[in-house]
Amino acid sequence: MVRVRFAPSPTGLLHIGNARMAVFNWLFAKRHKGTFILRIEDTDIVRSEKRYITQLIEDLHWLGLTWQEGPDVGGQYGPYLQSERLHIYNDICQKFIKEGLAYNCYCTPEQLEERRQSARLSGKPPRYDNRCRNLTDTQKKTFKSAGLKFTVRFKVPDELVAFDDLIRGTCQFDASLMGDFVIMRSDETPSFHFAVAVDDTIMKITHVIRGEDHLSNTPCHILLFNALNQKPPQFAHLSLTMGEDRTLLSKRHGAFSISEYRKLGYLPEAILNYMMLLGWSPKDKKEKFNIDDIIDTFELTDMSKASSVFDQQKLNWLSGQYIRESDTERLANLAIPYLREAGLISLGEDKIDKTNIKLIIDAIKSNIYCISQIVNEADIFFRDSIVSEKHVEYLASELSQSVLSSFHTKLQKFDSLSHENLKITLTAIQEETRIKGKELYMPIRVALTGREHGPELYHIINILGINICKKRIERFLLIKK
Ligand code: GLU
Repeated sequence: MVRVRFAPSPTGLLHIGNARMAVFNWLFAKRHKGTFILRIEDTDIVRSEKRYITQLIEDLHWLGLTWQEGPDVGGQYGPYLQSERLHIYNDICQKFIKEGLAYNCYCTPEQLEERRQSARLSGKPPRYDNRCRNLTDTQKKTFKSAGLKFTVRFKVPDELVAFDDLIRGTCQFDASLMGDFVIMRSDETPSFHFAVAVDDTIMKITHVIRGEDHLSNTPCHILLFNALNQKPPQFAHLSLTMGEDRTLLSKRHGAFSISEYRKLGYLPEAILNYMMLLGWSPKDKKEKFNIDDIIDTFELTDMSKASSVFDQQKLNWLSGQYIRESDTERLANLAIPYLREAGLISLGEDKIDKTNIKLIIDAIKSNIYCISQIVNEADIFFRDSIVSEKHVEYLASELSQSVLSSFHTKLQKFDSLSHENLKITLTAIQEETRIKGKELYMPIRVALTGREHGPELYHIINILGINICKKRIERFLLIKK
């Protein structure tokens, strides 16, 4: 039975880079009908914050991920917050000390730093020199009775540590170069390595799927698994996602946190799809897919060893595709809060003219990739457009005036304008004025919206209604009728 976990440290907002790790763990569990576990690694008391835990749970749910065990849903091997498991780490640490697998180290941070410096200067690796491993009984007693602070270090055996990574193949590390590492800090919280190995053991994790940045930590974890008499899980270290400048993805590259994407009104299925394209692609190479299309063929071993590059343009393109295919009712519901916040609608939920909003959505959905863009795109339907000086001049030209005047006259006949009638009307104006193409459409578009681009003319006229169209045109007619 496959058991995998996503184990974030709640020290910031969930980012595309780490959410991607959650996604591949979740996919793998789904693929093998296994269990997906959420474990919060919050033993760094200074940097961990409760609000990040709440937020990341909300963000993962928004993406459509669900887990069978976790802090919010419980489970057989909980608690799932490491800060609530301190007694477990302490008990195992005591056991390690008793069995001679670990020992108290009384070296102070200052002494350690001084030794690291001098090792560096003499060209030696700056690792711990294991000096407290061999303290005499008298030394131990003296330090203890003096009440000195201590950490607990794991006795690293002199051996080669080898494992088969599902993505990277055979990896080998020489543990004799490692130095004894800390498993328990002086404040009695476990080190990252210790908490991970203990929890992966207790939670019966079968596959550890995480970022390549943890590859160098894996030998420490394997040594701890051995000490715990536990067969190590299978490892799969995923390549990381970079910005276009090939440095680790961050805000600087225009990549937002998941909650920011959500606030901007990206659709979750678009973000999820895009994250799966980072370092992986389906066999048919299609870029747009949902889980059901790929779940039967997903293999971790197909994941790329090379790092992926985050491409906001591509994400926007994909997101645009999802918006175009989305149900208008859903988009309208998502759009209302943005329109309200921008002051474009101010009515209570029951008084909102949803029909009109749906018409607007249909008119503009091919021009947007996230819902918040509706505010800018839909502005033209809610208030008289502000027309720039350049456009006023353009509309005052002889050509524009003949188009506007002819259009205005023809509008008198209609209460509304069907697609067909708009076509007929434009052809009639063309015959009358001998103006065609862009010079025919543009004055009408600019007079109605103050912009050179936007939804189709038909949609604009249909949504605004004939009366408003007439009024907007009249503003620019120099020879009033
Ligand atoms: N807490 C670690 C992190 O956020 C994950 C450790 C692991 O997956 O083993 O990077």
